[in-house]
Amino acid sequence: MKLLLFATASALALPFARVTDRALGPRGCLFTFHRAAPSDLWEKLPNRNFYIDVAFLDRFLGYLAAQNWDVVTMSEAQRRISSGDRGNGYVNFSIDDCYRDTFEVIAPLFRKHKVPLTLFVTTGIPDGTLSMWSSGLEDALLNRDRVRVGDETLVLDSAEAKRAAYHRIADSWDGPEADRHYAAFCAANGIDIEAMHWKHAITWDMLAELARDPLLEIGAHTVSHPRMSSLQPEAAMAELEQSRARLNERLGIHVEHFAFPYGRSVDCGPRDFALAQRAGFRTAATTRKGLVRRGRDAFSLPRNTINGGHRSLAAMEMHLTGFTGAAARVLGRV
Ligand SMILES: [Zn+2]
Repeated sequence: MKLLLFATASALALPFARVTDRALGPRGCLFTFHRAAPSDLWEKLPNRNFYIDVAFLDRFLGYLAAQNWDVVTMSEAQRRISSGDRGNGYVNFSIDDCYRDTFEVIAPLFRKHKVPLTLFVTTGIPDGTLSMWSSGLEDALLNRDRVRVGDETLVLDSAEAKRAAYHRIADSWDGPEADRHYAAFCAANGIDIEAMHWKHAITWDMLAELARDPLLEIGAHTVSHPRMSSLQPEAAMAELEQSRARLNERLGIHVEHFAFPYGRSVDCGPRDFALAQRAGFRTAATTRKGLVRRGRDAFSLPRNTINGGHRSLAAMEMHLTGFTGAAARVLGRV
């Protein structure tokens, strides 16, 4: 019902968006998401809103082509923002963090549609230095009938029970102690923490193959995925510079684009936008909702996070018309 109301409001926003296009130049809509899964697996995933259903993404890419949206790299989006290009509306897709399914599922789909894709890599993932506790927890809940958590044994007899368990446990672990909780969980359930990491992580070999693909653009997303606004300036600068240097070193590329972890107003602010510019990036992206137009500041670019649960073109149109961005500003959710 809520979605229907929003879709109706979004349809009303479309004529307004078109008038604005004539005055301000074409709309740019930057999308971000994390993971993707086939429909049959998607239904069972304990944290499924974190994943796009591949069949839906396939349909959405076809829809964008039919509606004359250009799918572009972040470099091309930046060129259009700064040049006042009068062409079509444009869309960029970026994947944050980068998991194994970026290589196995998402990149092949973008290749099939012959459209570009931007990857914002957290270098601690392919380096194996970042704990992927949420992926490991989800994997254990998906593939087991019961797990030990602290003093409890949880019986997982349905997809609903697995989803409820995931959110309850993840909420209780989230924070500075998450790695310790996860290590204890792995020990109690006989999980090889190292093997679990590589079951979900993207590797440098995969990234090297992707870096050779002209449709793939690689950007940085820090080393350790911190909330940048919580760091001292030197530590924030080190995350910016070291992640770029590591990608340049391992992949032989020149990284120009950056995305802030978490990306909401509380996670990165004007100080961090200035640091990204000083570190030599050409753009930096947040997860504040909204559209880009010509003249937009390149170091606080809005991106619309695709919630995996919103598997309808009407929900995507809400982003494309700028309705979700306007609604978020009205509701103070930025
Ligand atoms: Zn991230």
